[in-house]
Amino acid sequence: MPQNNDLLYFVEKFPDELSCRKYLENQLWKNGPVCPHCKHKKVYKYKDGRLYKCASKTCRKQFQVTTGTIYQDSNIKLRKWFLALYLISTHKKGISSVQLGKQLGITQRAAWYMAHKIRYMLQNKTAFRPLSNVVEVDETYVGGKFKGGKRGRGSENKTPVFGMLERKGKLIIMVVPNTRRVTLQPIILQNVAKGTQIMSDEWWAYTKLSSHGYKHGVVKHKAKEYVRGDIHSNSLEGAWSLLKRSIRGIYHRPSREHLDKYCAEFQFKYNTRNDTEITRFTKTVAKSRISVKYSNITKNIAKNNSYLSTNEKEVQIQKGKRGNRNSN
Ligand SMILES: [Zn+2]
Repeated sequence: MPQNNDLLYFVEKFPDELSCRKYLENQLWKNGPVCPHCKHKKVYKYKDGRLYKCASKTCRKQFQVTTGTIYQDSNIKLRKWFLALYLISTHKKGISSVQLGKQLGITQRAAWYMAHKIRYMLQNKTAFRPLSNVVEVDETYVGGKFKGGKRGRGSENKTPVFGMLERKGKLIIMVVPNTRRVTLQPIILQNVAKGTQIMSDEWWAYTKLSSHGYKHGVVKHKAKEYVRGDIHSNSLEGAWSLLKRSIRGIYHRPSREHLDKYCAEFQFKYNTRNDTEITRFTKTVAKSRISVKYSNITKNIAKNNSYLSTNEKEVQIQKGKRGNRNSN
């Protein structure tokens, strides 16, 4: 199917709530319905076609396909959820909650919450495979009010993000508290298979890798050396510039608190970049068996208005100032 027909295909495939529900049942219950409370496989189906009841004598609980998923207890219809999954997973550089809200016909606040639920879901690892062959490792700094920000000192207003990229393979990125060896090395040991050829620059956090069972190629950035034969971190550099463009362009300056979720969204999109839009959508739906609570998203959302983008916060501050002047 050609790419430009994907949205049309999507709209035709999901004309109503029932079609979404059927699709979800097929995706999440590949071998028939399973009780989400006790995993029992013998269940009764009610006539309304939505509700089920567990047949286990010790359980007998009712459930739907949405029980224990990202869609549970949501006032937003499944069709809008599906469209949100589709829009978020197909906008390469990301989509703002303002735009998402407009496209779904819901408030910006509802769209913000929905998008963060989806990102939280994408953060959840369902299958783990350590990276191998040739893996580039590098760190970068994102967010913050000021331009610049170097390694270590001088980057106080920015958040360090660490990345590991298997050449022609999978990317793993995460927000880290700092870029010291004590932080980065255990992450590498956990995520990269022994015997892998690791490529990095000369940052001291990476200097002990060869004593941990890795082959280690170092390119000396300080000496203005960026590529020596096969030794470089150019693929990861490419991913960093995409990440920064997306954060600057759409999310302005996301708070540190939410940056890990934006990173998860970016990682998912990067790792599915060769899929068709429909395949990518199917992969997001497959991940939706996770219940996400308000508290998972943020602790103090009402207090700090963090659901607003930075620009909107500034507008509110301006309005506040004007209000004060008028009353004076
Ligand atoms: Zn049960």
